[in-house]
Amino acid sequence: MKIAVLPGDGIGPEIVAEAVKVLQRLEADGLRLTLEWGAVGGNAYASHGSPLPEATLKLAKAADAVLFGAVGDPRFDTLDRHLRPEQAILGLRKNLGLFANLRPALLYAELASASSLKPEIVAGLDILIVRELTGDIYFGQPRGRRKSPDGAFQGADEAFDTMRYSRPEIERIAEVAFQAARARKAAGHPGKVTSVDKANVLETFQFWKDVVTEVHAQYPDVQLEHMYVDNAAMQLVREPKKFDVIVTGNMFGDILSDEAAMLTGSIGMLPSASLNAERRGLYEPSHGSAPDIAGKGVANPLATILSAAMMLRYSLGEPEAATRIERAVQTVLRQGMRTADIAEPGTRTVGTAAMGDAVVAALG
Ligand code: NAD
Repeated sequence: MKIAVLPGDGIGPEIVAEAVKVLQRLEADGLRLTLEWGAVGGNAYASHGSPLPEATLKLAKAADAVLFGAVGDPRFDTLDRHLRPEQAILGLRKNLGLFANLRPALLYAELASASSLKPEIVAGLDILIVRELTGDIYFGQPRGRRKSPDGAFQGADEAFDTMRYSRPEIERIAEVAFQAARARKAAGHPGKVTSVDKANVLETFQFWKDVVTEVHAQYPDVQLEHMYVDNAAMQLVREPKKFDVIVTGNMFGDILSDEAAMLTGSIGMLPSASLNAERRGLYEPSHGSAPDIAGKGVANPLATILSAAMMLRYSLGEPEAATRIERAVQTVLRQGMRTADIAEPGTRTVGTAAMGDAVVAALG
């Protein structure tokens, strides 16, 4: 199994190094992995003149999965948009056909007080948001503005974007959600998909709802419910634990996945996966390159380590290895070990490398 390792900028190299330590420990236990490194983001721009060099793209395309750190470097914020480090992630999504974004919002009981919600509402939260990534109003045609005298927005009378989804686009994301719910059910979750739409107002989402219902016929073991997006936004803060898997379009997913992420209160803990039709994928922490703490050895590597676990589960067919990593993370939290971002009175604050070492040790 070939993994392209793209550490990127800021804290990227520090946190990816810890995830690699964990993978190498699993390798020592018999898991067969080949890791190959590539340049991406601001580092790649500095060395190759492009945030996503051809060689990196080739490496990512040939791999079974990509382990990604983060991109973004204030030194390059004034560059033309297409040369900025953040373009690398968009280029990878497009070239690898990554249409499904999976973001678990999981709150370990040990971190319940990190949330801005009451601990009893969020303790033990474990939900999965499946966001469609390549369609919807973000990619709609036509789009534009009317009656602008000089092509600028100033003086234009209106601007518009078109919301659009095709049947295959909805079918494939619904399948990802139902399969995820089925796999979670086997692991003790309720096995329920909540499809979030705005079918009461938008034709696109009436169509979405109908197609999701059709696909559901192939998954009788999974429960399906439909919910309007405004209600879903409310229920996520009111009673988040009543969700299991949420599936929704690109724009609603963009908003709801950030809302759900914040339920857990700790950005350094949240992994993510973006998958294509062959279930190959890109795995990365939900946070960015954190230039404010880069190079200080204090970044929390757990989101990246948990992303590596998702990679084993979703792209590499190694769910047991994934669970082993997740249990090890839980063990170190239970032992009271914390990086600075999740530190609390009575816990022991450790740096990035020490946290990675602790997870390796907890793998047993
Ligand atoms: P950020 O997520 O990098 O940082 C926000 C805050 O969270 C900072 O205070 C940071 O120190 C903290 N933080 C983030 N990850 C942490 C970790 N693992 N451990 C401890 N603390 C952590 O967001 P930002 O500051 O808005 O963006 C910084 C750069 O990252 C920008 O260039 C942005 O474009 C880029 N970015 C990249 C990605 C990506 O690579 N997918 C995603 C988001 C932002």
